[in-house]
Amino acid sequence: MSGTFVGMPAFPTAARAALADTQLRHNLAHATRTIRDKRARVVAEVPDWEELRLTGAAIKETTLRDLERHLVDLEASLQARGAIVHWANDAAEANEIVARITKSHGVDEVVKVKSMATAEIGLNEALAEHGIAAWETDLAELIVQLGEDLPSHILVPAIHRNRAEIREIFRTRMAAAGRPAPAGLTDDPAELAGAARLHLREKFLRAKVAVSGANFAIAETGTLVVVESEGNGRMCLTLPEVLISVVGIEKVVPTWADLDAFLRLLPRSSTGERMNPYTSTWSGVTPGDGPQEVHVVLLDNGRTRALADDVGRQALRCIRCSACLNVCPVYERVGGHAYGSVYPGPIGAILNPLMKGTGVDEQTDSLPYASSLCGACFEVCPVRIDIPEVLVHLRSKVVDGHRGDTVPKAEAVAMKSAAWAFGDARRLALAERASGLAGRVLARVGRTTLPGGRPAAGRLPGPGSAWTGARDLPAPPRESFRAWWHRTKGGRS
Ligand code: SF4
Repeated sequence: MSGTFVGMPAFPTAARAALADTQLRHNLAHATRTIRDKRARVVAEVPDWEELRLTGAAIKETTLRDLERHLVDLEASLQARGAIVHWANDAAEANEIVARITKSHGVDEVVKVKSMATAEIGLNEALAEHGIAAWETDLAELIVQLGEDLPSHILVPAIHRNRAEIREIFRTRMAAAGRPAPAGLTDDPAELAGAARLHLREKFLRAKVAVSGANFAIAETGTLVVVESEGNGRMCLTLPEVLISVVGIEKVVPTWADLDAFLRLLPRSSTGERMNPYTSTWSGVTPGDGPQEVHVVLLDNGRTRALADDVGRQALRCIRCSACLNVCPVYERVGGHAYGSVYPGPIGAILNPLMKGTGVDEQTDSLPYASSLCGACFEVCPVRIDIPEVLVHLRSKVVDGHRGDTVPKAEAVAMKSAAWAFGDARRLALAERASGLAGRVLARVGRTTLPGGRPAAGRLPGPGSAWTGARDLPAPPRESFRAWWHRTKGGRS
């Protein structure tokens, strides 16, 4: 059983703890640099990459603007091909549907294809409450599950673990979940993968029910698409008798032709591969071939809330490639756990508040601030989600949500004071004189000085240290521009 993110502290607290973990920072820096460099190399090979990005963004955007129609088309196509369609408003409904179907087949276990949607709704934990074991079959998800850990990356959930740690998890935990790790297991990647293969094989051959997500759902044909690297997904999608796919409603694309752009954008952006090793597609039930009972659970869980946000809606274009995580300087240093969600990094910083709403809890409200707004995430995003724009928009929503607080935040007080000072020329002149004086005082309270005795950038004492703890405070000039202008008549005297 993996852990859960319930009760995680706000981002600044969690990030501080993560920053103290030097092993974590080393593992992350190594892994993100490797994937980042691979992605950059293969993207540079595609002369029309920018056109592809524009195409991907346009398909998603136009689909989202007419989402209801495309979903109704998808439902009809799925039903026409023998799939049973369920609609789930939230995580509880989706979990209940999956548990009910599983129990109706008298089994107490399912095998799972790696799926962000099922991680988002906490399906494994919900099934456990019904006495059903959900076995993760993706290698990285297996590592997280056996280690009773939390995922820290969309694509590589165990990115925070190195080979030695994985060997230890396999050696000590595999036996409790099924076939034990081979004796004398080393931390050689091929040996670790071999141990996982043997451990999972017996689960694939035994399982009657499989659970998946989908990368794309094609409305035209009722086809679901899973893109993966290991082949474990295909085992789940073909061997069991029953298949339940939990699919976020934003995964719909209108036609087969639309898939072309995404199957070129996704592998290069995610794993840095020219094409991914396994692309599985299935349309309902095919008699005598694969699962003979196919359920599709179409999941909202906050997506319509995000859709209603004119600026934030673009986050629903996300194809979960994780390129934005790998280039983010904040993510690289703190890792995924600090975001308190299965969606970490830049996309998590916008997706969580958009789907849950701002003003709901301190942890979610802290996420739009988990960014330096450097823009690297937008540069790499294959569907051109302007994450910095959405971050700024969400910050304003968080601030707006606190305007009525009886005890205003220090930032709100500072902004109100600034508005008061800037609203009147005499008040501004007074504020300038006061800030010049404050600069000289700061220089005396232990700040370094520049050559010539000018105060250097410094840090505020007391409550102000929260602001300057991670930033330099530029020292104000001895004389403001307005004072200089007044004294010299604009340089003429
Ligand atoms: S926001 Fe863009 S870069 Fe980030 S995971 Fe989604 S598609 Fe990939």
